[in-house]
Amino acid sequence: MGYAIDGFGIFGPRGEDGKIVRNRDLDVCHGHTHAIMWDGKKVVMYHYHLNGEYPYSIGCFRGKPVTVPGAGHGGH
Ligand SMILES: [Zn+2]
Repeated sequence: MGYAIDGFGIFGPRGEDGKIVRNRDLDVCHGHTHAIMWDGKKVVMYHYHLNGEYPYSIGCFRGKPVTVPGAGHGGH
């Protein structure tokens, strides 16, 4: 277990009830949201899981990257 660079937790292959987390349980970023133990408290928050299915690890980061003012949507 560790911490992703965007601040969300990274958990092993077992999720709620100790069941193996499958990719279909996770979103494209290999994460999802449910109650987890965090800092000794049970909180519902987004987190990643590492499991035995491709891509095995975090597919992307959910944390909002720093946005540059004025560089948003809109086109040319
Ligand atoms: Zn989970």
